[in-house]
Amino acid sequence: MKKYKAAFFDMDGVLIDSMKYHCKTWVDAFAQHGIAFDPQMAYRNEGRTGASTINLAFESQKGRAATEAEISSIYQLKTRMFRQLPPAEAIPEMADFVQLLKKDGLDLWVVTGSAQDSLLARLSEHYVDCFSSHKMVTGKDVKFGKPHPEPYLKALQHSGYHPNEVFVIENAPLGVEASVAANIFTVAINTGILPNTELAEKSANLIVSNVQELQAWWCNN
Ligand code: CA
Repeated sequence: MKKYKAAFFDMDGVLIDSMKYHCKTWVDAFAQHGIAFDPQMAYRNEGRTGASTINLAFESQKGRAATEAEISSIYQLKTRMFRQLPPAEAIPEMADFVQLLKKDGLDLWVVTGSAQDSLLARLSEHYVDCFSSHKMVTGKDVKFGKPHPEPYLKALQHSGYHPNEVFVIENAPLGVEASVAANIFTVAINTGILPNTELAEKSANLIVSNVQELQAWWCNN
């Protein structure tokens, strides 16, 4: 008898293979503003709000926070660049895993910092009949981004589950940090470029390298 009733999925880097594009557009948008921002930094800050990421880069390189105008200019440039890239595909084989959980009767939720209106449409293309707009916590629903636990606490509150009844699938160190802080069993799937140690440092309960390992964990659970 499986003890879990629901799974909370992060989106970028877990359901959708979009981190390579987020990484490229962050690096390029910062470069156009004379700020060196490497791919590791893009992955390490994944999950933060845009303003928070921009402020961190300014503080580390210029010794001050970014102005509102700088935040707006860099974030708009990054967003424009992102829209010019081809639409991101699903993470390989993740659709099979999500369908398996659905078949096993799990309630499926999405917890993402993204605030795009097109989000559900994009998910529905790859994950047919799995997710619903009523079962999502997005960037529009929260005041604090990850690594603050608020997004996952909101998902618990909206879904009515106890933390013990749920597991989270995250890919990013700050996402793991948010989920662990909400006391939820956290599975980290490393779909990016950072070493597993960075996920372990945030106390992920389990770290897997691909969907096959995720599926093996679930089937043995
Ligand atoms: Ca992510």
